[in-house]
Amino acid sequence: MSIADNIAAVRARIEAAARRAGRSAADVALMGVTKTHGPERIRKAHAAGLRLFGENRVQEFAAKAGALADLAAAEWHMVGHLQTNKAAKAVELFSAVDSLDSLKLAEKLDAAARALGKKLPVLIEINLGGEEAKSGLALDSRELEEILLAAPRFEALEFRGLMTVPPFTDNPEDARLYFRKLRQLRHAIAARQLPAIRMDALSMGMSHDFEVAIEEGSTCVRVGTAIFGERPRV
Ligand SMILES: *Cc1c(COP(=O)(O)O)cnc(C)c1O
Repeated sequence: MSIADNIAAVRARIEAAARRAGRSAADVALMGVTKTHGPERIRKAHAAGLRLFGENRVQEFAAKAGALADLAAAEWHMVGHLQTNKAAKAVELFSAVDSLDSLKLAEKLDAAARALGKKLPVLIEINLGGEEAKSGLALDSRELEEILLAAPRFEALEFRGLMTVPPFTDNPEDARLYFRKLRQLRHAIAARQLPAIRMDALSMGMSHDFEVAIEEGSTCVRVGTAIFGERPRV
């Protein structure tokens, strides 16, 4: 199957999952996660109509951004853990950071975005499985609360919602509980009507579990393997 075929197949599955959940597929954005894949393959996805892309490492994207700069209307989001010393570079390269996971990072991103006169949409990453190897804030953490309350001070950041990468399990149904938890957290935060906090976006669901995520309210699925094939092991 070609990349265009894969995208068509993923879109059909998004449609079906949305229909099952009584939702409109138009409310679920498809992000192609392009880490490890070269510009050639990414261009094929763009030619097939994909416009939203995610990368997880600043350095890797910096190396290929030049070869992709001419792709019309393409939008690049950072979806991986971002070290604070790479915040400024990330703000230069990406149009959004979907993996904000610390107060310190919010400070650095805000300062960098101000310096560039840019508004930077961000999602707060939540670690629902309590896995130490994964980034993201625990849903009951003090730091999450600190970020939510500090939001008005970060004038260059636009807080738009939440993101999560649940623990991997073979059965996608096992992820349902995590996706539901993220939706409930979004609801709880939205209900507080905090200044400078919008909670429209729920970025959740990857190649093996995006249909379950859509059934649980995902507004953006981040799909790598099902579009671009297996990644080379590094
Ligand atoms: C790699 C990655 C994805 C895509 O994973 P697949 O299983 O290949 O679809 C999604 N989100 C993040 C944060 C990733 O790092």
